[in-house]
Amino acid sequence: MTPFPNSLWSATAAPLASSPPLTEDLRTPVCIVGAGFAGLSTALHLAEAGTDCIVLDARQPGWGASGRNGGQVIPGLKHDPAALMARFGEKAGTRLARFSGDAPALLFDLVARHAIDCDLYTGGWIQPAHAPEGLETLRRRRAQWRSFTDEIVELDHAETARLVGSDHYVGAMLDRRGGSVQPLSLSRGLARAAVKLGIRLFGDTPALSLSRRDGTWEVETPAARVRADSVVVATNGYTDDLIPALRRSLVPVYSFQVATRPLSPNLAATILPDGHPASDTRRLLWYFRKDGQDRLIMGGRGFAKDSLDADDTRALQRAVQALYPQLGEVDFAYHWGGRVAMTADHLPHVHAPEPGLYAGVGFNGRGVAMATATGSILAHLAAGGEPEAQPLPVTALTPIAFHAFHAPAVQALAGYYRWRDDRECKRSRSGSSAR
Ligand SMILES: Cc1cc2nc3c(=O)[nH]c(=O)nc-3n(C[C@H](O)[C@H](O)[C@H](O)COP(=O)(O)OP(=O)(O)OC[C@H]3O[C@@H](n4cnc5c(N)ncnc54)[C@H](O)[C@@H]3O)c2cc1C
Repeated sequence: MTPFPNSLWSATAAPLASSPPLTEDLRTPVCIVGAGFAGLSTALHLAEAGTDCIVLDARQPGWGASGRNGGQVIPGLKHDPAALMARFGEKAGTRLARFSGDAPALLFDLVARHAIDCDLYTGGWIQPAHAPEGLETLRRRRAQWRSFTDEIVELDHAETARLVGSDHYVGAMLDRRGGSVQPLSLSRGLARAAVKLGIRLFGDTPALSLSRRDGTWEVETPAARVRADSVVVATNGYTDDLIPALRRSLVPVYSFQVATRPLSPNLAATILPDGHPASDTRRLLWYFRKDGQDRLIMGGRGFAKDSLDADDTRALQRAVQALYPQLGEVDFAYHWGGRVAMTADHLPHVHAPEPGLYAGVGFNGRGVAMATATGSILAHLAAGGEPEAQPLPVTALTPIAFHAFHAPAVQALAGYYRWRDDRECKRSRSGSSAR
Protein backbone atom coordinates (compact mmCIF):
# COMPACT_ATOMS: atom_id res chain seq x y z
CA MET A 1 0.00 0.00 0.00
CA THR A 2 1.25 3.56 -0.75
CA PRO A 3 2.40 5.06 2.57
CA PHE A 4 0.79 8.25 3.84
CA PRO A 5 2.96 11.36 4.33
CA ASN A 6 4.26 11.61 7.88
CA SER A 7 1.82 14.28 9.01
CA LEU A 8 0.14 15.10 12.31
CA TRP A 9 -3.07 13.83 10.75
CA SER A 10 -1.72 10.43 9.74
CA ALA A 11 -0.20 10.06 13.23
CA THR A 12 -3.51 10.77 14.98
CA ALA A 13 -6.32 9.55 12.66
CA ALA A 14 -8.01 6.24 13.36
CA PRO A 15 -6.64 3.71 10.84
CA LEU A 16 -8.77 2.59 7.92
CA ALA A 17 -8.38 -0.95 6.59
CA SER A 18 -6.49 -0.45 3.33
CA SER A 19 -8.65 -0.54 0.22
CA PRO A 20 -7.58 -3.46 -1.99
CA PRO A 21 -6.56 -2.90 -5.61
CA LEU A 22 -9.04 -3.75 -8.34
CA THR A 23 -8.14 -7.14 -9.79
CA GLU A 24 -11.14 -8.12 -11.91
CA ASP A 25 -13.33 -6.45 -14.52
CA LEU A 26 -16.42 -4.71 -13.18
CA ARG A 27 -19.65 -3.14 -14.44
CA THR A 28 -21.09 -0.25 -12.41
CA PRO A 29 -23.53 2.62 -12.99
CA VAL A 30 -20.93 5.21 -11.83
CA CYS A 31 -17.13 4.98 -11.55
CA ILE A 32 -15.53 7.71 -9.40
CA VAL A 33 -11.83 8.46 -9.88
CA GLY A 34 -10.22 10.01 -6.77
CA ALA A 35 -11.02 9.25 -3.12
CA GLY A 36 -10.68 12.67 -1.51
CA PHE A 37 -13.53 14.75 -0.10
CA ALA A 38 -15.01 15.37 -3.56
CA GLY A 39 -14.96 11.74 -4.75
CA LEU A 40 -16.02 10.23 -1.42
CA SER A 41 -18.81 12.76 -0.94
CA THR A 42 -20.02 12.00 -4.49
CA ALA A 43 -20.07 8.29 -3.61
CA LEU A 44 -21.96 8.89 -0.36
CA HIS A 45 -24.55 11.13 -2.00
CA LEU A 46 -25.07 8.55 -4.76
CA ALA A 47 -25.38 5.73 -2.22
CA GLU A 48 -27.86 7.74 -0.16
CA ALA A 49 -29.94 8.24 -3.32
CA GLY A 50 -29.82 4.50 -4.04
CA THR A 51 -27.34 4.54 -6.96
CA ASP A 52 -24.49 2.05 -6.84
CA CYS A 53 -20.95 3.21 -7.68
CA ILE A 54 -17.32 2.30 -7.18
CA VAL A 55 -14.38 4.54 -6.23
CA LEU A 56 -10.82 4.15 -7.55
CA ASP A 57 -7.80 5.88 -6.05
CA ALA A 58 -4.24 5.73 -7.33
CA ARG A 59 -3.18 5.57 -3.65
CA GLN A 60 -5.64 5.32 -0.74
CA PRO A 61 -8.69 7.29 0.48
CA GLY A 62 -7.52 10.63 1.91
CA TRP A 63 -3.96 10.30 0.55
CA GLY A 64 -4.25 13.57 -1.44
CA ALA A 65 -4.99 17.06 -0.13
CA SER A 66 -8.04 15.80 1.77
CA GLY A 67 -5.89 13.96 4.29
CA ARG A 68 -3.21 16.69 4.56
CA ASN A 69 -4.97 20.07 4.75
CA GLY A 70 -5.47 22.51 7.61
CA GLY A 71 -8.91 21.12 8.39
CA GLN A 72 -10.39 24.63 8.36
CA VAL A 73 -14.03 24.50 7.33
CA ILE A 74 -14.37 27.82 5.53
CA PRO A 75 -17.62 29.25 4.17
CA GLY A 76 -17.57 30.93 0.76
CA LEU A 77 -15.05 31.08 -2.04
CA LYS A 78 -12.03 33.22 -2.86
CA HIS A 79 -14.49 35.58 -4.58
CA ASP A 80 -17.23 37.35 -2.67
CA PRO A 81 -20.91 37.45 -3.78
CA ALA A 82 -20.63 40.60 -5.94
CA ALA A 83 -17.84 39.07 -8.04
CA LEU A 84 -19.86 35.85 -8.46
CA MET A 85 -22.86 37.86 -9.67
CA ALA A 86 -20.66 39.85 -12.06
CA ARG A 87 -19.25 36.60 -13.44
CA PHE A 88 -22.38 34.40 -13.64
CA GLY A 89 -25.27 36.89 -13.57
CA GLU A 90 -27.39 37.82 -10.59
CA LYS A 91 -29.43 34.62 -10.32
CA ALA A 92 -26.65 32.06 -10.82
CA GLY A 93 -24.14 34.16 -8.84
CA THR A 94 -26.55 34.45 -5.91
CA ARG A 95 -27.20 30.70 -6.03
CA LEU A 96 -23.46 29.93 -6.01
CA ALA A 97 -22.78 32.37 -3.16
CA ARG A 98 -25.55 30.75 -1.11
CA PHE A 99 -24.27 27.23 -1.91
CA SER A 100 -20.67 28.11 -0.96
CA GLY A 101 -21.82 29.86 2.23
CA ASP A 102 -23.88 26.81 3.17
CA ALA A 103 -21.09 24.34 2.29
CA PRO A 104 -19.93 24.01 5.94
CA ALA A 105 -23.51 23.16 6.98
CA LEU A 106 -23.63 20.45 4.30
CA LEU A 107 -20.38 19.01 5.66
CA PHE A 108 -21.58 19.20 9.28
CA ASP A 109 -24.84 17.42 8.28
CA LEU A 110 -22.93 14.67 6.48
CA VAL A 111 -20.72 14.16 9.54
CA ALA A 112 -23.80 13.98 11.80
CA ARG A 113 -25.79 11.70 9.45
CA HIS A 114 -22.97 9.17 9.29
CA ALA A 115 -21.71 9.65 12.87
CA ILE A 116 -18.19 10.42 11.60
CA ASP A 117 -15.64 10.84 14.37
CA CYS A 118 -13.36 13.66 13.09
CA ASP A 119 -12.80 16.12 15.99
CA LEU A 120 -15.57 18.32 14.62
CA TYR A 121 -15.60 21.94 15.82
CA THR A 122 -18.53 24.13 14.72
CA GLY A 123 -17.76 27.34 16.64
CA GLY A 124 -16.80 29.45 13.60
CA TRP A 125 -13.76 30.55 11.59
CA ILE A 126 -11.73 33.72 12.08
CA GLN A 127 -10.16 35.78 9.31
CA PRO A 128 -7.74 38.24 10.97
CA ALA A 129 -6.48 41.30 9.06
CA HIS A 130 -2.68 41.60 8.74
CA ALA A 131 -2.90 45.35 8.00
CA PRO A 132 -5.50 48.11 7.35
CA GLU A 133 -5.69 46.93 3.72
CA GLY A 134 -6.90 43.55 4.97
CA LEU A 135 -9.44 45.18 7.25
CA GLU A 136 -10.87 47.05 4.26
CA THR A 137 -11.24 43.75 2.36
CA LEU A 138 -13.07 42.26 5.35
CA ARG A 139 -15.44 45.27 5.57
CA ARG A 140 -16.38 44.84 1.91
CA ARG A 141 -16.76 41.09 2.41
CA ARG A 142 -19.09 41.47 5.37
CA ALA A 143 -21.21 44.03 3.52
CA GLN A 144 -21.62 41.66 0.56
CA TRP A 145 -22.66 38.72 2.72
CA ARG A 146 -25.15 40.75 4.78
CA SER A 147 -28.16 39.77 2.66
CA PHE A 148 -27.24 36.07 2.96
CA THR A 149 -26.39 35.64 6.63
CA ASP A 150 -26.14 37.40 9.96
CA GLU A 151 -23.49 34.93 11.15
CA ILE A 152 -20.56 37.19 10.19
CA VAL A 153 -19.40 39.66 12.81
CA GLU A 154 -16.63 42.24 12.96
CA LEU A 155 -14.04 41.89 15.72
CA ASP A 156 -12.17 44.97 16.87
CA HIS A 157 -8.48 44.92 17.74
CA ALA A 158 -9.06 43.95 21.39
CA GLU A 159 -11.53 41.14 20.65
CA THR A 160 -9.29 39.84 17.84
CA ALA A 161 -6.33 39.83 20.22
CA ARG A 162 -8.40 37.89 22.75
CA LEU A 163 -9.71 35.25 20.32
CA VAL A 164 -6.44 34.81 18.41
CA GLY A 165 -4.31 35.11 21.53
CA SER A 166 -2.01 37.64 19.85
CA ASP A 167 -2.08 41.38 19.20
CA HIS A 168 -0.42 40.87 15.80
CA TYR A 169 -3.63 41.66 13.88
CA VAL A 170 -5.44 44.97 13.42
CA GLY A 171 -8.92 43.41 13.54
CA ALA A 172 -10.82 40.41 12.17
CA MET A 173 -14.01 38.87 10.93
CA LEU A 174 -15.63 35.94 12.70
CA ASP A 175 -17.79 33.78 10.45
CA ARG A 176 -19.88 31.59 12.70
CA ARG A 177 -20.79 29.29 9.80
CA GLY A 178 -17.27 27.77 9.80
CA GLY A 179 -15.33 25.37 11.98
CA SER A 180 -12.67 22.67 11.77
CA VAL A 181 -12.11 18.93 11.41
CA GLN A 182 -9.29 16.42 11.62
CA PRO A 183 -9.14 16.09 7.83
CA LEU A 184 -7.77 12.55 7.49
CA SER A 185 -10.31 11.33 10.05
CA LEU A 186 -13.01 13.01 7.97
CA SER A 187 -11.69 11.39 4.76
CA ARG A 188 -11.58 7.97 6.39
CA GLY A 189 -14.97 8.52 8.03
CA LEU A 190 -16.50 9.33 4.63
CA ALA A 191 -14.84 6.21 3.18
CA ARG A 192 -16.11 4.06 6.05
CA ALA A 193 -19.65 5.44 5.65
CA ALA A 194 -19.56 4.76 1.90
CA VAL A 195 -18.42 1.17 2.44
CA LYS A 196 -21.18 0.69 5.02
CA LEU A 197 -23.69 1.67 2.35
CA GLY A 198 -22.27 -0.96 0.00
CA ILE A 199 -19.88 1.19 -2.07
CA ARG A 200 -16.68 -0.59 -3.13
CA LEU A 201 -13.42 1.38 -2.80
CA PHE A 202 -10.28 0.27 -4.62
CA GLY A 203 -6.91 1.68 -3.56
CA ASP A 204 -3.57 1.55 -5.40
CA THR A 205 -5.67 1.53 -8.55
CA PRO A 206 -4.85 4.41 -10.89
CA ALA A 207 -7.29 5.06 -13.71
CA LEU A 208 -4.94 4.91 -16.71
CA SER A 209 -7.25 5.77 -19.58
CA LEU A 210 -10.85 6.57 -20.39
CA SER A 211 -12.72 5.67 -23.55
CA ARG A 212 -16.35 5.54 -24.58
CA ARG A 213 -17.82 2.71 -26.64
CA ASP A 214 -21.52 2.28 -27.55
CA GLY A 215 -22.55 4.75 -24.86
CA THR A 216 -20.56 3.00 -22.11
CA TRP A 217 -17.39 4.34 -20.51
CA GLU A 218 -14.39 2.06 -20.10
CA VAL A 219 -11.83 2.88 -17.42
CA GLU A 220 -8.56 1.04 -17.84
CA THR A 221 -6.61 0.25 -14.65
CA PRO A 222 -3.37 -1.77 -14.32
CA ALA A 223 -5.10 -5.12 -13.71
CA ALA A 224 -8.71 -4.75 -14.81
CA ARG A 225 -11.27 -2.71 -16.72
CA VAL A 226 -14.33 -0.90 -15.35
CA ARG A 227 -17.40 -0.36 -17.54
CA ALA A 228 -19.66 2.44 -16.35
CA ASP A 229 -22.58 4.55 -17.54
CA SER A 230 -20.94 7.64 -15.99
CA VAL A 231 -17.48 8.56 -14.78
CA VAL A 232 -16.73 11.27 -12.21
CA VAL A 233 -13.16 12.57 -12.04
CA ALA A 234 -12.30 14.13 -8.65
CA THR A 235 -8.51 14.35 -8.69
CA ASN A 236 -7.95 18.10 -8.01
CA GLY A 237 -4.26 19.00 -7.34
CA TYR A 238 -3.18 15.45 -8.19
CA THR A 239 -4.83 15.50 -11.63
CA ASP A 240 -2.72 13.61 -14.18
CA ASP A 241 -3.15 13.10 -17.91
CA LEU A 242 -6.28 10.94 -17.62
CA ILE A 243 -8.04 13.94 -19.20
CA PRO A 244 -5.14 16.06 -20.52
CA ALA A 245 -7.27 19.21 -20.90
CA LEU A 246 -8.31 18.90 -17.25
CA ARG A 247 -4.69 18.81 -16.08
CA ARG A 248 -3.97 21.88 -18.20
CA SER A 249 -6.94 23.76 -16.67
CA LEU A 250 -5.24 23.64 -13.24
CA VAL A 251 -2.00 24.87 -11.72
CA PRO A 252 -0.91 22.81 -8.71
CA VAL A 253 0.79 24.92 -6.03
CA TYR A 254 2.16 23.68 -2.73
CA SER A 255 1.07 24.51 0.76
CA PHE A 256 2.72 23.19 3.88
CA GLN A 257 2.21 22.96 7.60
CA VAL A 258 4.04 22.34 10.84
CA ALA A 259 2.68 21.16 14.19
CA THR A 260 4.09 21.42 17.70
CA ARG A 261 3.87 18.81 20.42
CA PRO A 262 0.85 19.26 22.75
CA LEU A 263 1.22 22.61 24.54
CA SER A 264 1.07 22.83 28.31
CA PRO A 265 -2.42 23.79 29.56
CA ASN A 266 -1.10 27.23 30.62
CA LEU A 267 0.37 28.00 27.19
CA ALA A 268 -2.58 26.48 25.31
CA ALA A 269 -4.95 28.75 27.21
CA THR A 270 -3.16 31.81 25.75
CA ILE A 271 -3.52 30.69 22.11
CA LEU A 272 -6.86 30.60 20.26
CA PRO A 273 -8.55 30.11 23.65
CA ASP A 274 -12.02 29.42 22.21
CA GLY A 275 -10.70 26.85 19.71
CA HIS A 276 -11.28 28.78 16.46
CA PRO A 277 -9.29 28.03 13.33
CA ALA A 278 -7.88 31.15 11.61
CA SER A 279 -6.64 32.10 8.12
CA ASP A 280 -5.43 35.66 7.73
CA THR A 281 -5.78 38.22 4.93
CA ARG A 282 -2.17 38.07 3.66
CA ARG A 283 -1.96 37.35 -0.06
CA LEU A 284 0.27 34.44 0.97
CA LEU A 285 -1.84 33.62 3.93
CA TRP A 286 -0.86 32.20 7.30
CA TYR A 287 -3.41 29.66 8.53
CA PHE A 288 -3.33 28.23 12.01
CA ARG A 289 -5.32 26.42 14.68
CA LYS A 290 -4.96 23.97 17.52
CA ASP A 291 -5.89 20.30 17.28
CA GLY A 292 -7.84 18.28 19.87
CA GLN A 293 -4.67 17.74 21.93
CA ASP A 294 -3.66 21.44 21.94
CA ARG A 295 -0.90 21.15 19.36
CA LEU A 296 -0.43 24.40 17.44
CA ILE A 297 -0.61 23.88 13.66
CA MET A 298 0.72 26.63 11.39
CA GLY A 299 0.44 26.60 7.59
CA GLY A 300 1.55 28.73 4.68
CA ARG A 301 2.44 28.69 1.00
CA GLY A 302 5.38 26.40 0.37
CA PHE A 303 7.99 25.35 -2.10
CA ALA A 304 7.45 23.71 -5.45
CA LYS A 305 7.87 20.22 -4.02
CA ASP A 306 5.80 17.58 -2.24
CA SER A 307 8.14 16.60 0.58
CA LEU A 308 9.96 18.94 2.94
CA ASP A 309 13.06 19.02 5.11
CA ALA A 310 13.12 20.42 8.63
CA ASP A 311 15.08 23.37 7.15
CA ASP A 312 12.11 24.30 4.99
CA THR A 313 10.08 25.13 8.06
CA ARG A 314 11.96 28.36 8.91
CA ALA A 315 9.31 30.66 7.41
CA LEU A 316 6.63 29.03 9.52
CA GLN A 317 8.90 29.18 12.59
CA ARG A 318 9.05 32.97 12.03
CA ALA A 319 5.26 33.14 11.70
CA VAL A 320 4.77 31.26 14.97
CA GLN A 321 7.21 33.58 16.74
CA ALA A 322 5.55 36.69 15.34
CA LEU A 323 2.16 35.54 16.59
CA TYR A 324 3.06 33.69 19.76
CA PRO A 325 6.43 34.84 21.12
CA GLN A 326 5.58 33.13 24.43
CA LEU A 327 6.36 29.79 22.69
CA GLY A 328 10.01 30.74 22.07
CA GLU A 329 11.98 28.68 19.53
CA VAL A 330 9.67 25.77 18.72
CA ASP A 331 10.75 22.26 17.93
CA PHE A 332 8.12 21.08 15.46
CA ALA A 333 7.07 17.46 15.82
CA TYR A 334 5.58 17.27 12.30
CA HIS A 335 6.01 19.02 8.97
CA TRP A 336 4.27 18.09 5.76
CA GLY A 337 2.88 19.53 2.54
CA GLY A 338 0.44 18.91 -0.27
CA ARG A 339 -0.91 20.26 -3.54
CA VAL A 340 -3.56 22.92 -3.90
CA ALA A 341 -5.26 23.14 -7.32
CA MET A 342 -5.51 26.72 -8.55
CA THR A 343 -7.65 27.76 -11.52
CA ALA A 344 -7.21 30.81 -13.75
CA ASP A 345 -10.30 32.49 -12.23
CA HIS A 346 -9.67 31.22 -8.65
CA LEU A 347 -13.04 29.45 -8.70
CA PRO A 348 -13.85 25.74 -8.44
CA HIS A 349 -15.19 24.16 -11.60
CA VAL A 350 -17.58 21.41 -12.54
CA HIS A 351 -17.16 20.21 -16.11
CA ALA A 352 -19.10 17.81 -18.32
CA PRO A 353 -16.73 17.50 -21.30
CA GLU A 354 -18.53 14.51 -22.83
CA PRO A 355 -21.84 12.74 -22.24
CA GLY A 356 -21.60 10.84 -18.95
CA LEU A 357 -18.18 12.28 -18.03
CA TYR A 358 -17.98 14.78 -15.15
CA ALA A 359 -15.17 16.47 -13.27
CA GLY A 360 -15.15 18.60 -10.11
CA VAL A 361 -11.83 20.35 -9.44
CA GLY A 362 -10.07 23.63 -8.64
CA PHE A 363 -10.90 24.26 -5.01
CA ASN A 364 -8.12 26.87 -4.70
CA GLY A 365 -7.27 26.00 -1.10
CA ARG A 366 -10.94 26.17 -0.01
CA GLY A 367 -11.91 22.53 -0.52
CA VAL A 368 -12.69 21.15 2.92
CA ALA A 369 -16.25 22.44 2.79
CA MET A 370 -16.46 23.16 -0.94
CA ALA A 371 -15.10 19.87 -2.35
CA THR A 372 -17.38 17.98 0.04
CA ALA A 373 -20.36 20.07 -1.06
CA THR A 374 -19.42 19.71 -4.74
CA GLY A 375 -19.75 15.94 -4.26
CA SER A 376 -23.51 16.50 -3.96
CA ILE A 377 -23.52 18.23 -7.38
CA LEU A 378 -21.37 15.56 -9.03
CA ALA A 379 -23.70 12.89 -7.65
CA HIS A 380 -26.75 14.64 -9.14
CA LEU A 381 -25.03 14.94 -12.52
CA ALA A 382 -23.79 11.34 -12.54
CA ALA A 383 -27.31 10.16 -11.73
CA GLY A 384 -28.67 12.07 -14.75
CA GLY A 385 -29.47 15.48 -13.17
CA GLU A 386 -29.72 18.54 -15.40
CA PRO A 387 -26.50 20.63 -15.57
CA GLU A 388 -28.56 23.85 -15.65
CA ALA A 389 -30.09 23.04 -12.25
CA GLN A 390 -26.76 22.87 -10.39
CA PRO A 391 -25.64 25.60 -7.96
CA LEU A 392 -22.05 25.45 -9.24
CA PRO A 393 -22.41 26.31 -12.94
CA VAL A 394 -21.21 23.54 -15.27
CA THR A 395 -18.54 25.30 -17.35
CA ALA A 396 -16.58 24.45 -20.48
CA LEU A 397 -13.25 22.74 -19.87
CA THR A 398 -10.74 25.38 -20.94
CA PRO A 399 -7.01 24.64 -20.68
CA ILE A 400 -4.87 27.57 -19.49
CA ALA A 401 -2.89 29.12 -22.34
CA PHE A 402 0.90 28.55 -22.04
CA HIS A 403 0.15 26.17 -19.17
CA ALA A 404 3.75 24.97 -18.79
CA PHE A 405 4.84 28.50 -17.83
CA HIS A 406 2.26 28.94 -15.10
CA ALA A 407 3.86 27.03 -12.23
CA PRO A 408 7.14 29.06 -12.40
CA ALA A 409 5.14 32.27 -12.92
CA VAL A 410 3.01 31.55 -9.84
CA GLN A 411 6.19 30.84 -7.85
CA ALA A 412 7.68 34.17 -8.96
CA LEU A 413 4.46 36.01 -8.13
CA ALA A 414 4.58 34.47 -4.65
CA GLY A 415 7.82 36.37 -3.95
CA TYR A 416 6.16 39.65 -4.96
CA TYR A 417 3.09 38.90 -2.82
CA ARG A 418 5.29 38.11 0.18
CA TRP A 419 7.07 41.47 -0.27
CA ARG A 420 3.74 43.34 -0.41
CA ASP A 421 2.35 41.52 2.64
CA ASP A 422 5.50 42.26 4.63
CA ARG A 423 5.50 45.91 3.60
CA GLU A 424 1.85 46.39 4.62
CA CYS A 425 2.47 44.66 7.95
CA LYS A 426 5.53 46.80 8.69
CA ARG A 427 3.73 50.04 7.82
CA SER A 428 0.77 49.04 9.93
CA ARG A 429 3.02 48.19 12.88
CA SER A 430 4.98 51.43 12.66
CA GLY A 431 1.68 53.32 12.80
CA SER A 432 2.02 54.87 9.33
CA SER A 433 -0.54 52.65 7.62
CA ALA A 434 -0.32 52.34 3.86
CA ARG A 435 -2.71 54.92 2.55
C1 LIG B 1 -1.45 21.73 2.88
C2 LIG B 1 -2.87 22.05 2.49
C3 LIG B 1 -3.67 22.76 3.37
C4 LIG B 1 -5.01 23.04 3.04
N1 LIG B 1 -5.81 23.63 3.97
C5 LIG B 1 -7.12 23.80 3.71
C6 LIG B 1 -8.00 24.28 4.72
O1 LIG B 1 -7.62 24.47 5.87
N2 LIG B 1 -9.30 24.50 4.38
C7 LIG B 1 -9.79 24.24 3.13
O2 LIG B 1 -10.97 24.47 2.87
N3 LIG B 1 -8.98 23.70 2.17
C8 LIG B 1 -7.68 23.46 2.44
N4 LIG B 1 -6.88 22.89 1.49
C9 LIG B 1 -7.48 22.46 0.21
C10 LIG B 1 -8.24 21.13 0.35
O3 LIG B 1 -7.45 20.20 1.05
C11 LIG B 1 -8.58 20.57 -1.04
O4 LIG B 1 -9.28 21.55 -1.76
C12 LIG B 1 -9.46 19.33 -0.98
O5 LIG B 1 -8.95 18.37 -0.09
C13 LIG B 1 -9.59 18.73 -2.37
O6 LIG B 1 -10.24 17.49 -2.27
P1 LIG B 1 -10.38 16.59 -3.55
O7 LIG B 1 -11.19 15.41 -3.16
O8 LIG B 1 -10.88 17.40 -4.68
O9 LIG B 1 -8.88 16.17 -3.95
P2 LIG B 1 -7.77 15.30 -3.18
O10 LIG B 1 -8.08 15.14 -1.75
O11 LIG B 1 -6.44 15.85 -3.54
O12 LIG B 1 -7.94 13.86 -3.82
C14 LIG B 1 -7.54 13.56 -5.15
C15 LIG B 1 -7.29 12.07 -5.21
O13 LIG B 1 -7.20 11.68 -6.59
C16 LIG B 1 -6.32 10.59 -6.67
N5 LIG B 1 -5.92 10.45 -8.09
C17 LIG B 1 -5.26 11.33 -8.87
N6 LIG B 1 -5.13 10.83 -10.13
C18 LIG B 1 -5.73 9.62 -10.14
C19 LIG B 1 -5.94 8.61 -11.14
N7 LIG B 1 -5.53 8.76 -12.41
N8 LIG B 1 -6.59 7.48 -10.79
C20 LIG B 1 -7.05 7.29 -9.52
N9 LIG B 1 -6.88 8.21 -8.55
C21 LIG B 1 -6.24 9.37 -8.84
C22 LIG B 1 -5.18 10.97 -5.72
O14 LIG B 1 -4.46 9.82 -5.31
C23 LIG B 1 -5.96 11.64 -4.57
O15 LIG B 1 -6.22 10.75 -3.49
C24 LIG B 1 -5.53 22.63 1.78
C25 LIG B 1 -4.72 21.92 0.89
C26 LIG B 1 -3.41 21.62 1.24
C27 LIG B 1 -2.55 20.83 0.28
